[in-house]
Amino acid sequence: MKIIAANWKMNKTNKEAKAFFVEFEKLRRKTNNQIIFCAPFTTLSTVAKLGKELNFAAGAQNFHPAKNGAFTGEISLSMVLETGARVVLVGHSERRTLFRETDEFINEKIQVALTAGFKVIFCIGETLAEREQGKTNAVLKKQITKGLKDVVSYNNLIIAYEPVWAIGTGLTATNAQIKETHAYIKTLIDVPLLYGGSANEKNCEEIFAIPNVDGALVGGASLVAEKFAVMVNHGRK
Ligand code: PEP
Repeated sequence: MKIIAANWKMNKTNKEAKAFFVEFEKLRRKTNNQIIFCAPFTTLSTVAKLGKELNFAAGAQNFHPAKNGAFTGEISLSMVLETGARVVLVGHSERRTLFRETDEFINEKIQVALTAGFKVIFCIGETLAEREQGKTNAVLKKQITKGLKDVVSYNNLIIAYEPVWAIGTGLTATNAQIKETHAYIKTLIDVPLLYGGSANEKNCEEIFAIPNVDGALVGGASLVAEKFAVMVNHGRK
């Protein structure tokens, strides 16, 4: 069994999402994989509703940890809950860099989401400069330690290892790099561990076969039904 999560980012209107699922369902085979679609807020209700019929989960790509209040443009967890989504993505490198989310803010989000009963996909990963300077393990350890400070139960936690230099670049970490890094992360914490970073329909079979790879978080390739269906069909075991 693999966990295969799509991160649609700022892509797909409701119309486009519905068209995607028509294609996806034609191509998808029955497996015991867990499939999650992290969709934009405006399509989350549609995706969650379809997920109940078609057996996949819906996830939010972001939320604000406050219950409510003066946070213009933000979405709270009770609002996410209302859409039917039960998964949240936290710590994605795009949120860390483009929206300046710190380890401390990420920690607050993780605590609030786990307490509210959500499944959390917690993204970690090093930059190319950090890898080249031999700092990968130290960076990952710091992200995990700070991100999970005061978290008491890891029951609903999934970690996604996403080397920043491999996200959306077409560069995938080598199998040896994935193997070594996943083995290291598992010495720190024993929760399901996904790989993310230009995973696609061509390389997923090899990636899924690497020890300690429990699935994938997929950006670009998850936008195309033909590609993502190949990935979710492969993950069988
Ligand atoms: C991501 O954004 O989480 C991701 C893995 O993107 P891509 O697959 O496009 O590299």
